[in-house]
Amino acid sequence: MIGRPTFHHRWVLRLGGLALLAACGESQGPEAVGFDAPIVGVPGVDVFYGAYLDHGGPSDYECGFKAYPGHRGVDILLRNFRVQDSGVAVVAAAAGTVTTIRDGIFDRSSTNGSGGFGNHVVLDHGDGIQTTYGHLRSGSVRVSAGQRVGAGTQLGLVGSSGNSNWPHLHFEARSAGGVQDPFQGACNPPASMWRNQLPYQDAFQVTDAGLTDRQAITFADLLERPTSVTVFRTDTTSFLYWLNLANIRSSAVQYVLLGPAGDTVAQLSRGPITTFSVLFLTWRVPIAGVLTTPGTYRVEFLQQPAGGGSLALAHWTTFQLVSVAGPLPARAPVSAAQARSEITVWESGGERRQ
Ligand SMILES: [Zn+2]
Repeated sequence: MIGRPTFHHRWVLRLGGLALLAACGESQGPEAVGFDAPIVGVPGVDVFYGAYLDHGGPSDYECGFKAYPGHRGVDILLRNFRVQDSGVAVVAAAAGTVTTIRDGIFDRSSTNGSGGFGNHVVLDHGDGIQTTYGHLRSGSVRVSAGQRVGAGTQLGLVGSSGNSNWPHLHFEARSAGGVQDPFQGACNPPASMWRNQLPYQDAFQVTDAGLTDRQAITFADLLERPTSVTVFRTDTTSFLYWLNLANIRSSAVQYVLLGPAGDTVAQLSRGPITTFSVLFLTWRVPIAGVLTTPGTYRVEFLQQPAGGGSLALAHWTTFQLVSVAGPLPARAPVSAAQARSEITVWESGGERRQ
């Protein structure tokens, strides 16, 4: 955070103002461009800012935790592949000329594979300023090399091509001096390259959640968003409560299952979880042979606020349990993993080696 200057400091700055302006006259470069958001969507609602550029440590432009080692851009993430399929536009941050395009690369990567930016576009804005838009959807690039584009021109759609494990845009800015962090803050004093800089995006959020009766699930399945189930039978092996979380930081978490009478029938906790980005958290709870009373059940997710304090309810949902008439139908034996209640933390979104 940037401290508010004291009266004394402001007075000194005013005295030195003319000299400072003169000294800075030749280095207006990057900040003179004035970027607009490179993606369509409301931050914190439609799109989620994950890792910022790493200033070492790792540390982001506000000296915060939202970076991983060596990250050279800004990651802006979608909730899942279903949102990617809906088509989220990536747009030119400023007017410029297209210098590079790449398209046709597989765009549903859920692992940090090779391939760098994957499908991408590079724009030249003059004065040595360039921007790169990485990991685009295959077949979505709608500009060609040499084309002149205005600010806001659609370049392509958000995807997960190249070194990406989650649908997101990697936005990178360069000046003649190399890669630049477009955000101004305590750990990046040069002037902001944005026309209107977005506030620092570090608030904890449950961005999505649901229940599923799928008995085997992978990270890729979670990115496809499992179909929500709200009615389970007593012979269902287990249910899975999944949450998509943003900016969870050093937080202990707890899951609670309340029965039809409001009594706690299952509960599980785990120690601190941290991500600078978004991640999935799941809780699998056995049903068959464990939950036998039909009725309305309520599952709750509690999270310890950053910095400590008591667990607070962050999300809850309900489901109906219906009994199966007569003898239970034959089913596969319950595996050890399915039979115990467990919490799984899935890999957070972005790319790790770029
Ligand atoms: Zn990135």
